Amino acid sequence: MRIDIITCLPGLLTSPFSDSILKRAQAKGLVEVGLIDLRAYATNKHRTTDDYAFGGGAGMVMTIEPIDNCITELKSKRVYDEVIYTSPDGERLVQSVANELSLKQNLIILCGHYKGVDERVRQHLVTREISIGDYVLSGGELAAAVIADAVIRLIPGVLSDETSALSDSFQDDLIAPPVYTRPAEYKGWKVPDVLLSGHQAKIDEWRHDQSLDRTRKRRPELLKKGHI
Ligand code: SAH
Repeated sequence: MRIDIITCLPGLLTSPFSDSILKRAQAKGLVEVGLIDLRAYATNKHRTTDDYAFGGGAGMVMTIEPIDNCITELKSKRVYDEVIYTSPDGERLVQSVANELSLKQNLIILCGHYKGVDERVRQHLVTREISIGDYVLSGGELAAAVIADAVIRLIPGVLSDETSALSDSFQDDLIAPPVYTRPAEYKGWKVPDVLLSGHQAKIDEWRHDQSLDRTRKRRPELLKKGHI
């Protein structure tokens, strides 16, 4: 898989991809991440990528030309499954969206800034719009990092324990059960006996019950989705 992130602030994205799981995924050749500096595609003297809004009002708008130039060049190199624009009014990023995107080959993620992009970018160049939640960020970079992280960790081989992503919250419309590690007792606070019993069937049953219980208490709407 390849993910190309178009941004006017590539520096904001270097650190999320240079550590831990996302770094290893690239080192293992399971994913390539391109941080594309939008300014390199600006044709004006000062390499600006924004301009005043037609009709007036506060806030700059990202211009279409550098974005079009950038996407056109990327598309000349490979076929992209989606050109995603990070946008607070887009489709909400939920686990099923991450699952679906993890099966794609090549993705572009376009980060907005200021007031957002010229509407014609959304109409003609973007194929999908994704929001990471109902709040407004100052730019799309953190959203792009969140989307890329949620997707990349699902690629087979990225997590050391292949089944680990499947047992995370939301994968089966359930919240993950509680987890414990050593010591078995700390300041008198004990780990549930069943986890120390060595009886795998009982442990699995306990975990499933805990998942159901947590989901009922914390996210009852997930159960209503009819899975269980
Ligand atoms: N004027 C816009 C917000 C612009 S915020 C509006 O009211 O909808 C600047 C940029 O940050 C956006 O273009 C988008 O790329 C990014 N952004 C902000 N909030 C986001 C969110 N919740 N999810 C994804 N991207 C977001």
